[in-house]
Amino acid sequence: MEFLSEVIGEAVVLSIDSLILGLCIKQLSKCKHILNTLQSAPVLGIDSSLQKEISKYPNDVIPYAVVRGLVKPLGNPITSNYNQTVTGVIQRLTIKEHVVARTSAGFWSDQTRTIHEVCNSTPFVLCNGKYSIEVIDALAAELLDLDVISDKFEPMSPGVIDHVWGFFSGVRQRGLQTMEEMLRDGSYITVIGEISKSSGGIKIQPPRDGLPLFLTTATKSSLLKRLSSSKDFLRILLVLFGSIGAIASGRIAYKYIKRRRRKIAEDVMKKQLAAGRKERRAQNRDKNLSEVQLCVVCSENPKEVILLPCGHVCLCEDCSDNIQDKCPICRERIDSRAPAFIT
Ligand SMILES: [Zn+2]
Ligand SMILES: [Zn+2]
Repeated sequence: MEFLSEVIGEAVVLSIDSLILGLCIKQLSKCKHILNTLQSAPVLGIDSSLQKEISKYPNDVIPYAVVRGLVKPLGNPITSNYNQTVTGVIQRLTIKEHVVARTSAGFWSDQTRTIHEVCNSTPFVLCNGKYSIEVIDALAAELLDLDVISDKFEPMSPGVIDHVWGFFSGVRQRGLQTMEEMLRDGSYITVIGEISKSSGGIKIQPPRDGLPLFLTTATKSSLLKRLSSSKDFLRILLVLFGSIGAIASGRIAYKYIKRRRRKIAEDVMKKQLAAGRKERRAQNRDKNLSEVQLCVVCSENPKEVILLPCGHVCLCEDCSDNIQDKCPICRERIDSRAPAFIT
């Protein structure tokens, strides 16, 4: 317990650090897995050969493949709320609140909070001439590159009351940002996912084994670059938090060893002092004593200690050191002891 209070700072740092380290390791292994699978994923053209290509794989399913094509809605497209000439297949409307908030350290800092987000989508295909492939569950994509159609910021002009309220609550409103993003029809994108045959043709959807679906304007090679740079970043974090963990554990180990050494030195000193005391007592003792004056345990030294609360004077100091709990005469519990002077 005493040792824990001595290393409480290091223990807190170590536990937070190992939590972050665990998350980093998990993210890194996920990132590596995606990177390796994506590297070996085939890039397929949307054309007459695609059906044949799918048939080569077991159960007519290509687990992870890359296709590029033009976005085309299957029914009516979604029309933009802010620009009537823009149509698309996925629409995301976000309302964000911009505030200046007081942090726990007492500073004021700009913060953004999403207060509302709506996503709409309509079925669509990726096409290349007369050939097409349906994109299923596009909103589940881990990476979804959308065009910003409208981005408006309405500042708030706070009154005196707002200022006072803001001072006490620690949050001052700055304004509202409304943003509309869309995946426009006719845009040329890369989709990476699981390709299989469907009743009407071919579909691409989120893979079954936890790999992410990507809908992006980037090509496979630039996506690989992006993933490998985030892998490098995770590695740096891993080294950083790994070193912090090593330093914290090193400090705990150092303090433990130091404490043990101190304790051993203290014990040696105590033993030396006790031996010295014992020797001095032996020299000072009266050698010509009658039977009743001798310690009941060793029958060698004089009686020197009174046991309380029973009050028996029956032990020499050496034997008193070895008897901890009960009086050897009456078996009563020993609460305290004191030197007895018999003259
Ligand atoms: Zn004795
Ligand atoms: Zn007693």
